Amino acid sequence: MRIAPIASGSSGNCIYVGDDNTHILIDAGISAKNIEEGLHSLDLSLDDIDAILITHEHSDHIKGLGVLERKREIPIYASQGTIEGILSTKSLGYFNRDCFKSLRNLSPFTINDFTFNPHPVSHDANEPVCFSFENAHKRAAVVTDLGCYDDELLKSLGKLDFIFAEANHDVRMLQLGPYSYPLKRRILSDRGHLSNEASGRFISKLLNDDIKSIMIGHLSDKNNLPDLAYEAVKVEITMSDTKYDGLDFPIYVAKRNEMSKIVYC
Ligand SMILES: [Zn+2]
Ligand SMILES: [Zn+2]
Repeated sequence: MRIAPIASGSSGNCIYVGDDNTHILIDAGISAKNIEEGLHSLDLSLDDIDAILITHEHSDHIKGLGVLERKREIPIYASQGTIEGILSTKSLGYFNRDCFKSLRNLSPFTINDFTFNPHPVSHDANEPVCFSFENAHKRAAVVTDLGCYDDELLKSLGKLDFIFAEANHDVRMLQLGPYSYPLKRRILSDRGHLSNEASGRFISKLLNDDIKSIMIGHLSDKNNLPDLAYEAVKVEITMSDTKYDGLDFPIYVAKRNEMSKIVYC
């Protein structure tokens, strides 16, 4: 299995997940042109993509979806609430509604040799989800856009070989930064985003001996810095009451506007 974030951050998200037989995009929140360029750097094209999974209808997750779908009609898997959110975002333009596959009851679904599990998350969108997925060999998850997490989410994510988790903001930078008070309050709320520290605690609860590397992403442009996020997550893992230390695993930080490290697991 390989996982390659094409872009990750508050300005746009798109993550490639696949293996030799299956090619999936999670979210399409950057321009179709940038998505295609990212795929080319993986020796793939839009024609190879089997499906696009959308986590929720915020623009940093769907911005490129309309143009992409008019270039090639690719099946779109999303919760019913997210589909309604996409269809009511007029700026995306026309969609062939037959392309939408509604995740009824958020049940697991299979695409070629991958099984995907949608998990509900606490975020201020219609019906947001994150995804864990597995092929015959490995199991991984991409978890972004959540203000908090509970034992049910941790349990349902299961035993992972790789985790991509949001580390959205440094709380002090956010508090002192340029955002309006209502926006700060929204981001800090249970339906907002995970801070660097919260991300480190969340990741600590998912650590197991199979995990070979970790990636953090969806960093805020204004309220975070890659080195700060890395240090905070590393310290939280070291301070956690697990047997693991923050230096036991490589912790990669996904890049905002360019291809991040490709992770093989
Ligand atoms: Zn987002
Ligand atoms: Zn969001």
